[in-house]
Amino acid sequence: MFVMETTFPGPSIYKVGWATLPRMAFFQEAPGLGNQFDEDALLGEYLGRALPAPVFAAVRDELRHLGELAGGKLYRMQQDDRLNEPVLTQWDAWGNRVDVIEVSPLWREAAVLAAQHGLVATAYEKQHGEFARVVQFALNYVVDASLDVYSCPLAMTDGAARTLLDSGNRALIEHAVPRLTSRDPARMWTSGQWMTERTGGSDVGLSETIARKVEGSEQFRLFGTKWFTSATTSPMALTLGRPEGNGPGGRGLALFYLEVRDAEGRMNNLAINRLKDKLGTRKVPTAELELQGTLATPVLGLGDGVRNITPMLNVTRTWNAIGAIAGMRRALALSRDYARRRVQFGHKLSEQPLHVDTLAGMAAEAEGAFVITFRAVELIGRSEAGVASDLERALLRMLTPIVKLTTGKQAVVVASEALEAFGGAGYVEDTGLPRILRDAQVLPIWEGTTNVLSLDTLRALAREGSLEAFEREVERSLAIAADGEGLGACVQTVRAAMGRAREWLGEASGETMTVEAGARRFAMTLGRSLELALLAAHAAQTKSVRAAAAARRLARHGVDLVGAPVDRGDAALLARG
Ligand SMILES: Cc1cc2nc3c(=O)[nH]c(=O)nc-3n(C[C@H](O)[C@H](O)[C@H](O)COP(=O)(O)OP(=O)(O)OC[C@H]3O[C@@H](n4cnc5c(N)ncnc54)[C@H](O)[C@@H]3O)c2cc1C
Repeated sequence: MFVMETTFPGPSIYKVGWATLPRMAFFQEAPGLGNQFDEDALLGEYLGRALPAPVFAAVRDELRHLGELAGGKLYRMQQDDRLNEPVLTQWDAWGNRVDVIEVSPLWREAAVLAAQHGLVATAYEKQHGEFARVVQFALNYVVDASLDVYSCPLAMTDGAARTLLDSGNRALIEHAVPRLTSRDPARMWTSGQWMTERTGGSDVGLSETIARKVEGSEQFRLFGTKWFTSATTSPMALTLGRPEGNGPGGRGLALFYLEVRDAEGRMNNLAINRLKDKLGTRKVPTAELELQGTLATPVLGLGDGVRNITPMLNVTRTWNAIGAIAGMRRALALSRDYARRRVQFGHKLSEQPLHVDTLAGMAAEAEGAFVITFRAVELIGRSEAGVASDLERALLRMLTPIVKLTTGKQAVVVASEALEAFGGAGYVEDTGLPRILRDAQVLPIWEGTTNVLSLDTLRALAREGSLEAFEREVERSLAIAADGEGLGACVQTVRAAMGRAREWLGEASGETMTVEAGARRFAMTLGRSLELALLAAHAAQTKSVRAAAAARRLARHGVDLVGAPVDRGDAALLARG
């Protein structure tokens, strides 16, 4: 028998062995997850309200099944698979350049699951009509946090299908869309989205990739470097290149379709220089690529590439918001469970008022983020089904950047708070918890940073009727909320913040510097105001005590971030010395 002597804090020396473990020794139970559909009260309430009863009934079992996987088998795989990362093999034993990337076992499982459960396909099938997007994103929301950011290739796949369909390019639609939207794991393709170059991911108009026409063909050869390409294992990609002779900026770029390998499996004149060593999303094989004459087909004309790839970005930004709310939900589910298991000062954390207050703050953020995200999802579904009004389309244009930027920031705050809720364990890698924060941190960066999307919100605003559409959505929600019990303060808080936002716009207008500098505070105010209005309306409609408490909490916290117009002294804060 193994026996050793060891010193524990305190005066005694214990004899420790398998048969004589000290009676005093304490081991903390790890947090656990249950069925991630059944345990999500907000999701159930929301789907009961937003979906017609037959649609909800038709998808409930699948949601429950995915919820079981997410809280069970997939979560366990994710924990076991923690250290497994993508591996790039550039050369084979005989000196051939092969550039093969091996992904983790969980990612391979996710690829099969995504096809079989239609995590992309559901949006393109006619079955659920205008509710297809709500169903699709509900499926993804339930399972996303257990798939190690496999949502990244799925988002781009969805975006590529949407972009090709919108382009009207029949040949490419017939060739690629059935693959992108397939439910057969052997047939389904994912897609990359190769935009960012060393010159900039925000200002992609600076892109240096050259597109050279192949004589006697419709095709082009691309030469350049793509600096951030996730989903590098995807068989196809949409990318941007500048046809020779075109002018500068985004208008001079064209949108191209390409396949990564030829029929024999050889690389299409492109090389993977390396995989990035990143803070988070470590299972995502984000690569730097060299295009060395890559054959590519124009998707839609030979210019306006940035504008033509916009449908892809609108889709991927919505996926980003789904990733944000799924991450918050996971952070909360684990923190809540742990609070019921962890005892300090003689009581469970779940019984200690300040800890409860802390978790409630996280929950309120998550609930606000959820309702605004799914409101955008509803509008996408209605728009794609051809039943959205002009007002709804104008609202969607405003909502897309606002939802992405607001929820991205919330996800980081909630994940950070969740780690603290575990104390030291939240900082220890093999609890699996630090990953949650690292993966959240990418959400405000990719698919457009917070600042870039704040400026995009201003561009959306410049369109006739956009602000009115937004204000009417807020008022529509407040009218519902006003009928709810104990929600008066929520209504007043939103009205005051929206009034202040309008006032700021009036004060700042005409002064580009002032408008730009305040754009983030303005966009966040709109985002948080609508979150509160929608959540209060949800509480009133469903009579949910929990949602009402969350709404009141957001109201107490305040949603007005506009503040005063810019202080011209701010530049001094950045001066050297
Ligand atoms: C893990 C990961 C995976 C990625 N995968 C992909 C991918 O698959 N495909 C792809 O194309 N890209 C991808 N990206 C790239 C990503 O989209 C860009 O990093 C992002 O758009 C920002 O671009 P940048 O890095 O060039 O930063 P910059 O554009 O240089 O921005 C730097 C800072 O300046 C701010 N800024 C920029 N312009 C303005 C302005 N006018 N006013 C105020 N502030 C401004 C930004 O907000 C940011 O804070 C990925 C990035 C990461 C981290």
